[in-house]
Amino acid sequence: MSKLHVSFVIPLYNEAEVFAELIERLDAIAAKLNYNCEVVLVDDGSRDNTPFFMEEVQQKNPIYQCIFLSRNFGQQVAISAGLDFARGDYIMFLDADLQDPPELYFHFMEKIEEGYDVVYGVRTNRKEGKLKRLSYNLFYRILNRISSFPIPKDSGDFALISRRVALAMNQHREDSRFLRGIRSWVGFKQLGVPYERMERQAGVTKYTLRKLIKLATDGIFNFTTLPITILIALGTLCIASSLVYFVITAIRKFYFHDVPAGFTALLFTIILFGGLQLFFIGIVGEYIQRIFIQVKNRPLYHIKKTIIDGQVEGH
Ligand code: UDP
Ligand code: MG
Repeated sequence: MSKLHVSFVIPLYNEAEVFAELIERLDAIAAKLNYNCEVVLVDDGSRDNTPFFMEEVQQKNPIYQCIFLSRNFGQQVAISAGLDFARGDYIMFLDADLQDPPELYFHFMEKIEEGYDVVYGVRTNRKEGKLKRLSYNLFYRILNRISSFPIPKDSGDFALISRRVALAMNQHREDSRFLRGIRSWVGFKQLGVPYERMERQAGVTKYTLRKLIKLATDGIFNFTTLPITILIALGTLCIASSLVYFVITAIRKFYFHDVPAGFTALLFTIILFGGLQLFFIGIVGEYIQRIFIQVKNRPLYHIKKTIIDGQVEGH
């Protein structure tokens, strides 16, 4: 088999509605390339006709490779599965819904040829609901401020990376994956390219609020230690202020004899500090929970079936 120059990795979860248009756009790109490419389609346990369409397209055109995960593992794991399989010298991540225009590949490739290892898209505007935009904005701002290394703002998984970055990213087998964080963590020469994020071409979002919140907490707890620092600082502050309060109460008791009035204040502080402690034990628990998941060292996913170069494995 001749060497592959580029692999496009696309996670699909119930994307039957947009499938035809996706393939049309990818075919057009492939036709313009004067070197070999492959498209790795990863079915993330779809319950619609997506797997059927995938089988159909790989029969028609050998550039399409199919991976079917055994259930819905989530977009981040689906992309990782595609990354494990991708054989190109360069690998491009795309969403199936065409929000990230695949045609930007050509522009990204120009930058790669200038010597970058990672070229990622930075969204200049989002054609999404106000609330979603606001929460994304806030999230990236906070994450960037508190993370121990820079995580680029407004960048998603949309990127073109070199093989060596792919190999580096693959070595991160952490369970709760935040790929854009891992990508920026591995280093190498990276460049952000501004682009306009389109509207989803067909179908509805496959990211439920729960999945979005999980992604956000994975980003924060996998890549920052600030919550623990805050915990220690606030804990110290609580102890210090309660000591001061104790001294004040003692002085009032022995010199001014007016302490019984402070009974409510006492109750108030007990509740306040009890609450604070519970809250911060929760934060520590968050980290412990992640250690717990990590030490289990589970496989990231299980594959039901692959069709690579037309060779069917599994069923
Ligand atoms: N996706 C996936 N598994 C999921 C959810 C989403 O593979 O559990 C895929 C989906 O098919 C799409 C990409 O991840 O290709 C981004 O999802 P979506 O467009 O629904 O998210 P949004 O752009 O609305 O945040
Ligand atoms: Mg989308």
